[in-house]
Amino acid sequence: MTQHDWTDARFETRAIHAGQDPDPATGAIITPIYQTSTFVQDAVGEHKGYDYARSDNPTRTALQTALASLEGGAWGLSYASGLAAATNVFYLLRPGDHVLLSNDAYGGTYRLVAKVIANFGIEFDLVEMSDLDAVRGAIKPNTKLVWVETPTNPYLKIVDIAGVAEIAHAGGARLVVDNTFASPYLQQPLKHGADLVLHSATKYLGGHSDVIGGALIGNDDETYATLKFMQNAAGAVPAPFDSWLILRGIKTLGVRMERHCANAMAVARFLQEQEIVEEVFYPGLESHAGHDIAKRQMSDFSGMVSFTIRGGFEAAKSFVESTSVFQLAESLGGVESLIEHPGQMTHLSVAGTGAAVADNLIRLSVGIEHIDDLLGDLESAIGAVSARFAVQI
Ligand code: PLP
Repeated sequence: MTQHDWTDARFETRAIHAGQDPDPATGAIITPIYQTSTFVQDAVGEHKGYDYARSDNPTRTALQTALASLEGGAWGLSYASGLAAATNVFYLLRPGDHVLLSNDAYGGTYRLVAKVIANFGIEFDLVEMSDLDAVRGAIKPNTKLVWVETPTNPYLKIVDIAGVAEIAHAGGARLVVDNTFASPYLQQPLKHGADLVLHSATKYLGGHSDVIGGALIGNDDETYATLKFMQNAAGAVPAPFDSWLILRGIKTLGVRMERHCANAMAVARFLQEQEIVEEVFYPGLESHAGHDIAKRQMSDFSGMVSFTIRGGFEAAKSFVESTSVFQLAESLGGVESLIEHPGQMTHLSVAGTGAAVADNLIRLSVGIEHIDDLLGDLESAIGAVSARFAVQI
């Protein structure tokens, strides 16, 4: 069944409609969850586009069409998790190829490269991606993939996507941008020269902390054919219900991101004024080193804020255990605010490496609750930690 063409519609409209026409069989306005493993064939090899659900499933197809539309790509593929999507990108490589990875990437991405992919003869180096000269200097003749996150996790550095794309392409490498922290509502890396966009759909796309998923979006048909083959051959597919949850989540992506951004900006400005806070990392602050590039390639600065605290590890640990609206948990991008200690939680796997994070660093995923409740919660945690560690506020 041909879908309505939403190409000319605005982002918010495409988020609700692209790939999501009413069900042709029943008129159901919401894409059904096709909870089936196989599809009956009219004759051998004659079917309605679906034969076995590892290869394809209509709920997944709807999600993939929507994802491609939101990122401005020709195609989308969805996966069982963000790391499953990442693993499939590495299937494009061969032994002896070299990967350039951001020195401030999600710890799980580093672990995947260093502990799994490297075992298959793939070389890698870490580089400071916000420094274009450093990127240029780190490209090798066998570099086939440059892997960027922007904003980065957890320091929220900003990488110039167009600048890195130019360097990667000049060296004959593909550029992959992990767009998880920005979401397509704020940033569309393909427009800035990226070859592939990756998402942990678990985060802003899903938006409700109730599903694990991943996605890849791109324009090149040959890359699509290889990735599609690899996904079917290796099997990292999302369940129909999980696809449906992500599809439901992205319908409200725009309005959620507006509130995430407004709340995060208010939180960052509040933290900047606190004695107990050493440094605030938020690309929306004029003082942030990547602020100008962020303004150029993003429409707003997202909902993630990190900061270092006086009093070292003990104070940071005490702080993340002192909030109550901000819940102590890994992950991000859900409607509820989360707080975590990257050194001991999300980034434990990079401890002792070139990508290690400070042990007084705290990361916030600022949710869409009322801002007064969020600031009040941070204020009381600051009071408790300051009293305990005798830090002046
Ligand atoms: N990329 C980023 C930036 C992440 O933060 C995460 C997870 O936290 C991932 C990728 C991996 O995604 P998933 O947990 O869905 O496998």
